[in-house]
Amino acid sequence: MQNSVQIEIIGIVRSCYPEKFGIPRQPGLVKSSAGRLELCPGYDREEMVRGLEGFSHLWIQFLFHEAVEEGWRPTVRPPWLGGQKRVGVFASRSPHRPNFMGMSVVRLRGISVVDGRLGLNLAELDLLDGTPVLDFKPYLPYSDSLPEATSGFVRSDEAPQRLVEFTARAQQFCADYEQRTARPLATLIRETLAQDPRPASQRHHSRSYGMTLWDVNIRWQVGADEVFVVDEISGDHVRPPL
Ligand code: SAH
Repeated sequence: MQNSVQIEIIGIVRSCYPEKFGIPRQPGLVKSSAGRLELCPGYDREEMVRGLEGFSHLWIQFLFHEAVEEGWRPTVRPPWLGGQKRVGVFASRSPHRPNFMGMSVVRLRGISVVDGRLGLNLAELDLLDGTPVLDFKPYLPYSDSLPEATSGFVRSDEAPQRLVEFTARAQQFCADYEQRTARPLATLIRETLAQDPRPASQRHHSRSYGMTLWDVNIRWQVGADEVFVVDEISGDHVRPPL
């Protein structure tokens, strides 16, 4: 038996997350996250997505392309265990795995042609801008939704939702940006920080952090009682709005 196959990239995800820091740990957690799957030539024929518009969610299989250079290990330290204990790579959803393949259930908002290119408008994603896509297919609740499933060491019910506050200056920036771009920036910041993007090893430090959402640099810090305070924001406007 042949033990390797060649796989082609069929599309690229453009998303609100231009860097890894800040991306939620799974899809569905940040409802206001958004992006677009741009289909590559050869896979951008309308007949290939005929019938897909009736589905609210999709499975996307993709490459963790920004993990490849760092490589993978047989065991990883998942954030659920405070970054202390190791579990097998195949017991985790870590990007650092053989073949670097990821899978996410994302919301399908619509299918459209923009600048002559067919693409899917997506939301509720956990994908880096530029992520190469290998395949996608409809999510089927009748068989994919398993409420009785158990989840080992992952205790999602224990993950606290952080409170997020904005300085007046930050609030004003968001209001102006939203008016200019129609992107719900304040909600995206609030939902993204509510997930506590700090690495597990830094949960006890108080320092200031920077992250980029869309084309906006955001500075925030953790105040007393673990309240996340959004302070300085500046826009780069390096990329045109999707
Ligand atoms: N739902 C997927 C991803 C889980 S890991 C799965 O279970 O397979 C989610 C993390 O992957 C994010 O927090 C982000 O930091 C990282 N990530 C997303 N896209 C990536 C990419 N293209 N390359 C490397 N890391 C990526």
